[in-house]
Amino acid sequence: MTRSPAHGPGPGLCGSCRHVRRVRSGKGSTFFLCRRAATDPRFRKYPPIPVLSCVGWEPDDEPAPTTGEDA
Ligand code: SF4
Repeated sequence: MTRSPAHGPGPGLCGSCRHVRRVRSGKGSTFFLCRRAATDPRFRKYPPIPVLSCVGWEPDDEPAPTTGEDA
């Protein structure tokens, strides 16, 4: 399953990955779309949830890139 209903399992690694995009369906379900799948065939567009291991995971808490405005 790729859905994560309100009381179902969490998304695992996808929940903290910078490459994920949450997609809300018209019925209120949340899907986790892996944006890496667009350019890398190793990844599934909608990976089975929860993802417990993934070579593509990168934290989504990277600092924002600097703009150079303060230089
Ligand atoms: S790279 Fe892995 S952890 Fe990140 S969104 Fe894709 S499947 Fe999930």
